[in-house]
Amino acid sequence: MLRGCHLSSSTLSFTDHNRPFFGLELVYPVVSRRAAGVSIGINLNPNNACNWACNYCQVPNLARAKAPFIDMTQLTRELGQLLDAVMQPSFMESYVPEGLRVIRDVAFSGNGEPTSSPWYPAAMIQVLRALKDRPSLQSVKIITITNGTYVLKESVQGALKESASHHGEVWFKIDRGDSEDIWQVNQVRLGLDQILARLAAVSRSCPTWIQSCMTARDGLPPNTLEIQRYVDFMARIRQQNIPVCGVLLYTLARPSHQPGGDHLAPVSREWLELLADRVRAVTAWTVRVF
Ligand code: SF4
Repeated sequence: MLRGCHLSSSTLSFTDHNRPFFGLELVYPVVSRRAAGVSIGINLNPNNACNWACNYCQVPNLARAKAPFIDMTQLTRELGQLLDAVMQPSFMESYVPEGLRVIRDVAFSGNGEPTSSPWYPAAMIQVLRALKDRPSLQSVKIITITNGTYVLKESVQGALKESASHHGEVWFKIDRGDSEDIWQVNQVRLGLDQILARLAAVSRSCPTWIQSCMTARDGLPPNTLEIQRYVDFMARIRQQNIPVCGVLLYTLARPSHQPGGDHLAPVSREWLELLADRVRAVTAWTVRVF
């Protein structure tokens, strides 16, 4: 769930997520165009392990593997160090463009699926404590960026409910509206009913946005039928009264590191806006384009 492969855009060198910042391994700062400020990323998958293999993924050396052991003492120390550093005006002046010098959120993102880590619930507790200990960060959100695979697990549900007590949000990946299309994009076998069950559960535990990535292949955006199936699926979610906040539509911010990724490119802003209008028309949801 590399942050940049989901929504955020990086404008400064410190936002290269694959290079430790100040020697930190499990946390990193990102300048986020979506949030209009600084996001603090939590990387529970420093071994680049994910259970999906999205064709647009920007994680180098992505591996279908398990999340590694996370030393909670290290995570707590690194998070505290980074939050305290970023709160300094000198840090903001040195690294962050004017107008973006505010911490907006702490995001479980990193180089794989964060909820696949057995340490995700414990890490959530540490994030909540770190924010509660810093009065100036009371409005900072906690975002979990997920492909949804593990959201039915009791421990994950518990952590999401905890995050909801601190402006928590879930960004739930749905890139296409048909199992075969999903296979082509995400390299995972997934039925639409499975997605609906996961989305219904998670959206009742924590405010949830659907996030959808659209890319061009060999110069062409997703075809008409593929997009119709996606729009139809959004309409189906709406008809089932699953209480999502809306849709975050985005495209490639940085090159894919996956095989065949050199065939992919961003779709145009205009194309995304047209798709956003179609989703709004069938759902009446808020749809944000990045
Ligand atoms: S869900 Fe997809 S985009 Fe996110 S880390 Fe896994 S493979 Fe990459």
